Amino acid sequence: MNKKINSIRGMHDYFCEDLEIWNKLEKIFKKILNSYSYEEIKLPILEKTEIFQRVIGNVTDIIEKEMYSFLDKRKNSLTLRPEGTVGCVRAIIQNNLLTKKNLKFWYLGPMFRYERPQKGRYRQFYQLGAEVFGISTIYIDLEIILLTNRLWKMLGINLDVYLEINSIGSQSDRMKYQNKLLSFLKKNESFLDEESKNRLYTHPLRILDSKNLYIQNILKKAPLLIDYINKNSLNQFNNLCYLINLCGIKYKHNPNLIRGLDYYNDTVFEWKTDKLGSQNTICAGGRYNSLVEELGGPKTSAIGFAIGVERLILLIKYLNIFSVKSEKINIYIIFIGEENKIHAINLSEDIRNIYPELKIFVNFSNFNLSKKIKHAVESLSRIAILIGTKEIKKKCYLLKELQTEKEFYLLKDELIKKINNIFRK
Ligand code: ATP
Ligand code: MG
Repeated sequence: MNKKINSIRGMHDYFCEDLEIWNKLEKIFKKILNSYSYEEIKLPILEKTEIFQRVIGNVTDIIEKEMYSFLDKRKNSLTLRPEGTVGCVRAIIQNNLLTKKNLKFWYLGPMFRYERPQKGRYRQFYQLGAEVFGISTIYIDLEIILLTNRLWKMLGINLDVYLEINSIGSQSDRMKYQNKLLSFLKKNESFLDEESKNRLYTHPLRILDSKNLYIQNILKKAPLLIDYINKNSLNQFNNLCYLINLCGIKYKHNPNLIRGLDYYNDTVFEWKTDKLGSQNTICAGGRYNSLVEELGGPKTSAIGFAIGVERLILLIKYLNIFSVKSEKINIYIIFIGEENKIHAINLSEDIRNIYPELKIFVNFSNFNLSKKIKHAVESLSRIAILIGTKEIKKKCYLLKELQTEKEFYLLKDELIKKINNIFRK
C-alpha cells in the first residue's frame, strides 16, 4: 500500500455530527444577523501581506509568528488571512461602500494562524464575524452585545458563557499608561516568564494578555489602564456598563482585557466560558475607530466582533444541547437482481420529483437481500422499498416500515400516497 498523506497539522476536516451542529449554528447565526439588518460580505482568503503588517501591530502574536505568508510567482508577498476585520475594511474602502446608508456586515470563513495546535486552537479555524461602520454612539456597542447575547440564548448556552468588558481608551492614553506599567513590571522583572521579559522592551501592554496564571497574579498589583484613560472614554465606558446592566446582561469589568490586535480603542469585550479549559474565549470584539483611516479611507468609527466557530461547537458538544439524531435517510430503496437496478433509479427519481425534501438512498451494492435490509435498518431510515422481478411484473412495490416491520404491496400511485402519509403528517 502507498504511504498515506495526512492533512496539514492543525487543519481539520469537518463531517457528520460536527457538521450537523455547524449547519444548525449557521442557520441561527444568519437568522439573528438578519434580524439586526446585517448583510453578508464575502471576502478573499488571500490578501497582500502589507495590509496586515500595517495595522495589526508589529509586536502582536499574529505578526510576530502566526502569519502564513509566501511569495507568489511574481514575488509579491501574500498572506492567508489571520482574521477578517482588516479584509472587510479594505473591501468597504475599495468598493466605496462607505456611502451606503446601512453599513452592517457579517462574514463566515476560514482564518489561518501558525499556532501550536491544541484543543480549541487550530491553524485553520473558522470565524463568524460582524462589523459595523459609521456609528460612533455606544448604543451600537450595546446592540452588538445584545445581538451576541441573543445568539447564546437561541443556542441554549447563555448560562455557560459570561461577558468581560473593558475600555482601553485612546492610543495616547495607552502610551501614558504603558510608562507606568513598565516601571511596575521592571521592579518585578525577575518574576516574569521569558515571553513577558521579551515583551517588556517591545510591547509591555501585551503582558496584560498573558495566559500564564503566575503572571496574572503579579498583575493584580499593577497599575490599571482604566485609571489612565481620558474622561470622555471613561464616561462612555461607564454609560455602556450602565446600559448593559439595564438590559439585564451580567458582565464583569476585566481591567486587564486588552485584545491581541493593536487596532482597537475604547470598548473591548470577550464572551468566555469555563467549560473549555484555557481556550476559553468564544467571541471577542471591540471598537476600532482609526482602522478605516489607517487603510486609506475617510475617518470612520467602527466596531466588530468575531466568534470562533470550532470553540462554539466544542462547547455545544460538551453541554450536549443539540439533538443531532435527525433521520439521515428517509427512504431506503433496495433492488433484487441486477436487471432491476434501473427500476430502483427510476423510482428514486420519481419520488425526488414529487418530494424533493426527502432523503432517498438507493443501495447499489451486490450484497444479498438480508444484508441490504440489515443496512437499511442500521441507517435508521423509516421505510425501505423493495423492487424485485415479481414486483415489476405486478407493477407494484413492497414497502417495509422498518420500525414496525409492517409490509405493504402497493401500486405506484398508492406508494406515492403512502409516502405522503408517512412523511407529511
Ligand atoms: P486567543 O487569545 O485565544 O489566541 P485571540 O485574541 O487571538 O484569541 P481573536 O483574534 O480575537 O482571538 O479571534 C476571535 C475568536 O476567534 C477567538 O475568541 C476564538 O474564539 C477564535 N480563535 C482565535 N484564534 C483561534 C485558533 N487558533 N483556533 C481556533 N479558534 C481561534
Ligand atoms: Mg491568538
